[in-house]
Amino acid sequence: MTLRTLESLGDLQGKNVVVRCDLNVPLKDGVITDDGRVRASLPTLNALIHAGARVVVVSHLGRPDGEPDSKYSLAPVAQRLSELLGKPVVFATDTVGSAAKDAVDELDDGDIALLENLRFNAHETSKDDSDRRDFAKKLAKFGDAFVSDGFGVVHRKQASVYELAEELPSAAGLLIQQELEVLERLTVSPEKPYTVVLGGSKVSDKLSVIDALLPKVDSLLVGGGMVFTFLYALGHKVGGSLLESDQVDTVKGYLVKAKELGVTIVLPTDIVVASRFGDDAEYVVTAADAIESSAFGANGMGLDIGPDTAASFAAAIMTSKTVFWNGPMGVFELPPFAAGTRAVAAALTEFDGFGVVGGGDSAAAVRALGFRDDQFGHISTGGGASLEFLEGKRLPGLEVLGWQA
Ligand code: ADP
Ligand code: MG
Repeated sequence: MTLRTLESLGDLQGKNVVVRCDLNVPLKDGVITDDGRVRASLPTLNALIHAGARVVVVSHLGRPDGEPDSKYSLAPVAQRLSELLGKPVVFATDTVGSAAKDAVDELDDGDIALLENLRFNAHETSKDDSDRRDFAKKLAKFGDAFVSDGFGVVHRKQASVYELAEELPSAAGLLIQQELEVLERLTVSPEKPYTVVLGGSKVSDKLSVIDALLPKVDSLLVGGGMVFTFLYALGHKVGGSLLESDQVDTVKGYLVKAKELGVTIVLPTDIVVASRFGDDAEYVVTAADAIESSAFGANGMGLDIGPDTAASFAAAIMTSKTVFWNGPMGVFELPPFAAGTRAVAAALTEFDGFGVVGGGDSAAAVRALGFRDDQFGHISTGGGASLEFLEGKRLPGLEVLGWQA
């Protein structure tokens, strides 16, 4: 079985179509700092509008506690979506309540509405199947058909991703289709040398990826917050840097396995160490095995890879033919700690091969640092989802649409 696509839904003129997008954009003080995920949703939404469907968009934003929380309202996203589509987007202030019902009832052919944050309802992400099923049934009332296009959430068994796809005739949207075409280039005979660059802060989430990727890659460059668990595993003290003590043995295992498989794990040789977390913090560059010997002693926090490491990572990328990168090399949001991320991004735009950037923060980072999307082979909207795809895991949100790896 292969992925069901939009055509499988037939003529959508006058039909209500619920669309699950991933509009989970970064916000600062209510302002969208990177609208990449909104833009990525446009092709499917435009296709449905042009087909004359009555489009009902649903999405999550952030991680609210299963109840309404104005901090996580999708209202700013509705406005941005309207600007990008060049047409009004009706915003409903609840998800399955009377506001949503009214908004949906008022739609004409080719109109579009966005419902409030799915995760204001605890049942969206409930571990209990029947909770999710209940919520999906409520959402299903708004549609004659369902289009799943939130690639960033296809690895999650959540009501609007999984159960809703079972409740209505369902198909994948254009974004999911495009993401899969690109990612398959990385799993089905990627051109060698194949390098994976990992960083970021979701350390325990991402460590398991290493296990699955080791047999597939030629080298693995490790930066960002997860570096310190590696350095610690090698016997070095890491001061106040991000450390997952309970993962140290696992990491030791990866180092042994990499050696057996002939895969190079490249770790930083130097680190930017700061006195504290802040863009006006004092900082110094130290050897990676001597973090606590810096002026800040045991309080020093590693917040970026150092300049020698940045140069060697860039050089490794330049000699690769396929590169997948997930996770910033440092705390790029603070200018003093953005250089490592910038160096990796620059190398990805220059090397002679196919380079993919995956992950919400990684995508936001390259844009914030002034790079353009078209300088990369592909910028994936999904971090966790793209990693799990590369690992060869089963993704519930794709399987329910007919996909089999
Ligand atoms: P993505 O969203 O691309 O998958 P993550 O969510 O895993 O990436 O991580 C992104 C975050 O990692 C950024 O906010 C960045 O500040 C943080 N980060 C990177 N390096 C470090 C570090 N050395 N210490 C603490 N946080 C870090
Ligand atoms: Mg992130």
